[in-house]
Parts: sequence; C-alpha cells; structure tokens
Amino acid sequence: MSELPIRPELAGLTPYGAPQLDVPVALNTNENSYPVPAEVADAITEAVRAEATNLNRYPDREAAALREDLARYLGHGLTSAQVWAANGSNEVLQQILQAFGGPGRSALGFTPDYSMYPLLVQGTGTRWIPGRRNTDFSLSPERVAKQVAEHQPDVVFLCSPNNPTGTALSLDVLDAVLDTAPGMVVVDEAYAEFARAGTPSALTRLPGHQRLVVTRTMSKAFALAGARVGYLAADQAVVDALRLVRLPYHLSALTQAAARAAIAHAGALLSTVEAIKTQRDRIVAELDTRSLAVIPSDANFVLFGGLADNRAVWQGLLDHGVLIRDVGLPGFLRVTAGTPEETTTFLAALDDVLGAARGDATASREHTA
Ligand SMILES: *Cc1c(COP(=O)(O)O)cnc(C)c1O
Repeated sequence: MSELPIRPELAGLTPYGAPQLDVPVALNTNENSYPVPAEVADAITEAVRAEATNLNRYPDREAAALREDLARYLGHGLTSAQVWAANGSNEVLQQILQAFGGPGRSALGFTPDYSMYPLLVQGTGTRWIPGRRNTDFSLSPERVAKQVAEHQPDVVFLCSPNNPTGTALSLDVLDAVLDTAPGMVVVDEAYAEFARAGTPSALTRLPGHQRLVVTRTMSKAFALAGARVGYLAADQAVVDALRLVRLPYHLSALTQAAARAAIAHAGALLSTVEAIKTQRDRIVAELDTRSLAVIPSDANFVLFGGLADNRAVWQGLLDHGVLIRDVGLPGFLRVTAGTPEETTTFLAALDDVLGAARGDATASREHTA
C-alpha cells in the first residue's frame, strides 16, 4: 500500500479488525448471543420475499416507513422527520462526520471509547482529538467541559453506555458538553437497551438542543448485527443535512423490509435483554470475587483489569475456545455477556488460565529459591 498515492492522514492506520474466528464461544464483538427466534426469522423471510419481485426498482431512498417504525419504537414524542436510518450506526456516524466534520474541522472523543471514532473521523478528513477520562474511566462535567472549551471541536462524541468501559453517562456530563460545545454533540447509545434501571437516555435532552444527535443500532439488543441497521434521532434540520451526504438509495429494500419485520417483533427480539443483563451482572459479581478490577457495566459486556499479562490471558482463553476482546488497554480485557452456558465456560476457562499463570509464578519463585 505504501507505493500508492494514499491520503497522508491514512498512511500507517490499521483497519478495524476484531478477529472473526470460528470458536465455540464468541464473546468479543458484543453481539447478542441468542439467535433470531424462528417466528421472527419467518416474518423477516416473508417480508424479504415480498420485496424480491420489486428489486428491479430502487428502494425508497427516504426509508419513510422504517423511520416511522423507529420513531414509534423510540417514543419521546419523536416523529419520523427526526429519525434517520443507515447501514449500521457506523454509517450514521460517518454521515454525521461527512456533513459536520471534514477537512479543516475536528472531532473530540474521550478515550478509551469506541475504536471506530478515530477511524471514521480520519477517514472523512477530520482531525481527531483524543480527550481524557478520569483514571477510573468516568467523566466529570467540569473536566469534560474544560477539554471541549480548550479544543473547540466541531463534533463531540459521547458514548453511553461507553464501549469498552461499559458505564453509562450521567446527564450532567451531557449538559456540560451541550453548554460548552460550539458544534455537534453525538451521543452513541448503541447499548441503551441494556442500561441499568434509572439510567436516563440522551433522547430526553433533544427538545431545545438542535445540535444534539442520539445514535442507536439494531446490532446489539435487537440481535440483528448481520442485517446492518443503525439510526439516529435529532432535530429535523440535522436529518436534512445528512440527506446532502448520503448515497442515493443507501439503504437497500431488503434491509428496510428486514428491519421493519424485526421491529414489528421487537418484543420477541428484546426478550433476551433481561437474561443478558443477568449474565452481565453475574460476570461482574464473579470477577469481583476473583479480586480482578471490574468496571460497573450498563451494557452487554464487562471490562475487567488487574491482569499481569492481558495478551497472555486472551490467548489462553482462545486456547480454551473462548474468544474475548483485547481492546488495547494494558492489563484489561473485555468480555461480552451472552448465554448462561457461555458465562460458565468463560469463567471456568479464565480460572484455568489464571490458575496456570499463578502456578507458573509460584513454580518460578520456588525455582529461584
Ligand atoms: C457495536 C457498536 C455500534 C454499532 O455499530 P453498527 O454499525 O450499528 O453495527 C455503535 N457504537 C458502538 C459504541 C458500538 O459498540
């Protein structure tokens, strides 16, 4: 690639590349471990079948019916004019940057956060500003506002619950950003459905804040990662701006049909959320008893630290058929909450790996002595 006249800001970057390995227990990309229920799969198949004969025509480029369904699902008095959909919330985020970032502009995130932000930012020619969190990964209104005031970014990313740390944002942090930011404020709520009771959504702040965008996805709680459907809620003017940068007919008729059938069965699809939250809380409690550093989670994953060699633990788990995520934080790993059986297998494998590591350490101490 180095011989190609690639844009200089892309030189040396690494593509997004969470390992896609064929393993018995895949807990590395925060997918919903439960397959789509048969009744929902049937409804999706029928909806796609009905579209098939019309595939000679372009799809509705406004995705009007889907956006109406999504607005109804979100509630908060939102209308379809305030909702936009694309191929995954990653495309939504890219469109936001195409419209509000770009050359000469900047975007600020608070690392560690979603690894795609810097890639999407730099891919659109926007300058990436890595903001800082407190040492326990939390954000405080004063420190966040100070960084926003200092950098004057055109776009601010807040991720709530935050990936990879898992904790949701309190609204006073969002309010501090809304009061300070000169540009757009994006709250990525990909994991909102998993938040603990009483966690407020940034959707409650949309009235009166024209530069606030809340993004969501069907990839996580809705168990529809393979369909690629993400969406946002914002002021109608924001949606109008995104129409300027979206590709014509960006959301295929098949995707729109599948998504609408899935939303019609939201109850069945979301019925796994409580079971997943139970496994999330079980992982937190179990890792706590193993004296690991566990971060409180509002998502379907848990970040844990206190590992002497996180890379070795990751590889040891993989050798046991359990794939989790090395998010590049020394001493930490992230594990997705899936089925009870997956949790059991993960915990047993972890005990094996950590026990073996402790055994090695003891053995080498004895050897030295
Ligand atoms: C998984 C995830 C998404 C979802 O991306 P899609 O493109 O909708 O699949 C968005 N934001 C964060 C923080 C995520 O972890």
